[in-house]
Amino acid sequence: MMMNERLRVAKIALSSPFHRLFDYLVPDDIDGSLLRTGSRVIVPFKNRDTIGIFLKITDKSEVQLEKLKSIKTVIDDEPIIPNALINLCQWASDYYHYPFGEVLFTTIPKYFRQGKTTTVKVSHEKKLSNLLKTNENFNVNREGNLKDPQKLNPEQQQAFLTIMNHLTHFQCFLLNGVTGSGKTEVYLQVIDQILKNGKQALVLIPEISLTPQTLDRFKQRFHIPIVALHSSLTHRERSMAWMQTQSNQAKIVIGTRSAVFTPFQNLGMIVIDEEHDLSFKQQDRFRYSARDLAIVRANMENIPIVLGSATPSFETLHNVQAKRYQVLHLPERAGNAIHPNYHIIDIRNESLKNGLSQMLLKMMDTHLQQNSQVLLFLNRRGYAPTLMCHQCGFTAKCKRCDVNLTLHKQPQHLRCHHCNTVKSIIQTCPVCGNKHLQNIGVGTERLEHELKKHFPDIPITRIDRDTTRRKNAMQDLLNHVQQDQKQILIGTQMIAKGHHFPNVTLVGIINLDAGFFGSDFRTIERTAQLLIQVAGRSGRAEKPGDVFIQTHYPNHSLLLQLIQQGYNQFALSALKERQESQLPPYTHFVLFRAEANNLEKSDQFLKELKELGIYHQLNSIKFLGPIPAPMPKCKGRFRAQLLVHSKNRRLLHELLNDLICAIETLKSAKRVRWSIDVDPLEMN
Ligand code: ADP
Ligand code: ZN
Repeated sequence: MMMNERLRVAKIALSSPFHRLFDYLVPDDIDGSLLRTGSRVIVPFKNRDTIGIFLKITDKSEVQLEKLKSIKTVIDDEPIIPNALINLCQWASDYYHYPFGEVLFTTIPKYFRQGKTTTVKVSHEKKLSNLLKTNENFNVNREGNLKDPQKLNPEQQQAFLTIMNHLTHFQCFLLNGVTGSGKTEVYLQVIDQILKNGKQALVLIPEISLTPQTLDRFKQRFHIPIVALHSSLTHRERSMAWMQTQSNQAKIVIGTRSAVFTPFQNLGMIVIDEEHDLSFKQQDRFRYSARDLAIVRANMENIPIVLGSATPSFETLHNVQAKRYQVLHLPERAGNAIHPNYHIIDIRNESLKNGLSQMLLKMMDTHLQQNSQVLLFLNRRGYAPTLMCHQCGFTAKCKRCDVNLTLHKQPQHLRCHHCNTVKSIIQTCPVCGNKHLQNIGVGTERLEHELKKHFPDIPITRIDRDTTRRKNAMQDLLNHVQQDQKQILIGTQMIAKGHHFPNVTLVGIINLDAGFFGSDFRTIERTAQLLIQVAGRSGRAEKPGDVFIQTHYPNHSLLLQLIQQGYNQFALSALKERQESQLPPYTHFVLFRAEANNLEKSDQFLKELKELGIYHQLNSIKFLGPIPAPMPKCKGRFRAQLLVHSKNRRLLHELLNDLICAIETLKSAKRVRWSIDVDPLEMN
């Protein structure tokens, strides 16, 4: 037989930074017609054997056939990645301009990436039942004491029925409901129907360890296998979950962002709870938005998707305005709970006691005397954010980052909150020799310390990264808070997610001001979301909540609108400002970042990149920069960035395709580490 009379060139995806597939010959002892798209193979690559994913077979190659190497082994007879997922990965690779092979390999559990064979698949029937028994993560409610569905209130019923009308095709819904309005109850009842239709459901949530209740509520409702996908699974557990879902053994997957890539046999709907949450965006390497990919996936698989939030992202609200998504409102709290009351404490000219105003202390006292709980929100852990010499102005800085070291007292040390560098506390100013260094600013540790003086008999629970490091520590602290006794709870943004604290009747926001002056145009949106989310933790029917906000800007118009008219009205105004300044979502951003061992190299690369882009002379595309990053030095590297933006998404992506090809020819590219961030959520 002549060489190219039969199909013998296999297109293989490898985990490599190149934006292309690799060609290999199918040797005579392998029957090419039996190769399945999405199966793993072993191929020689750069003098070693590596795992690849087979995609398709053809009869030609751009490389001379004699020069091609051959596939060594075929690992899977059945695809490990189903077609639907390959298509999603292809879309993601095109959109985020990240190499397709890398995208594929990031989605597969590491266990499979290591070439481990899915032995369970081979002796599937026999072994699976055993496996399920031994796999803790396969959550079947065995006790059988299920909780009944709630009778839906009229708004919930309306939302429920609307979604039920769209179970068989793609439709994106925004379930816009204040905290505690019963969104989860709506998800549960819709998913119940999905399951009855013989289909599976995917539920994405921001962070499972912070919100164990969500998983519990699903387990308490359904007598079926539920898989939880999160970062603390072992590689083996993750691979099992992957198989259980693909084989339709698991009916519901609850997971964090990477769960968007779980293969399903018969996916019927997707839910994204707290859709505004930043954690749905991967902030390094393959910088995808799990929310946006979930919507693409729902569209590809022609199924409904529900985004839920009390504080929807501006992108999502914009899509509602443009009638791409359908909004469903749950304006009231479910049951009988009522909205919290907001109060502004003007702290201009007031001498604060370690961050606390007289007014706040007085209100705390009142609530505590009524045996209620008080929650104080301060988004800064540690004792004090700055250690400063009062004589010469010296501050203790991180050597590797452009930030001050944070002072911690339990145990005593100085720590960089960016690179985690730890130093022992200095007693004497290294510049002028002064022995009285001052702690400037207030962190959660210091707040706790101060409150112990004011309220010596009241238990205090502090929830931040330092107090929750130990496994299960978060759960223990939460259990403590659930007890119906008076206490003070101090927390960073960790407490803003998911939890209900029914005994909390007063929420104090220690300092909102940082939230008005971020270098990022999204700062106001973030601050408003955080404020509403924290406030939403408090109050219930017999104990309505009060929220006290300490600020130097009591007349800030957006803040006033937020607390007087609510998040949705606030968002409309803030969106208008975005439109007037032509910021996302009214234009599309792409951020190139570069870092190197000096700033010139980063800057030089981005300059050359910009020249390449400008050469294309597309006047609807604009460049901003290169400029140093907001924190130019981080972890010992020097960072710069170049913003590319356009109202025309298609042209923007065409330019990016060209640029990325051209980067391979730039010498300056070899001296930096660079990345591309499509729809960046953080501009640092
Ligand atoms: P969300 O997801 O919007 O925060 P949840 O679904 O968690 O709201 O509901 C908040 C609380 O109200 C939960 O304790 C839930 O059991 C209860 N709840 C939800 N829907 C109803 C209803 N229709 N009737 C009574 N209680 C409800
Ligand atoms: Zn550092």
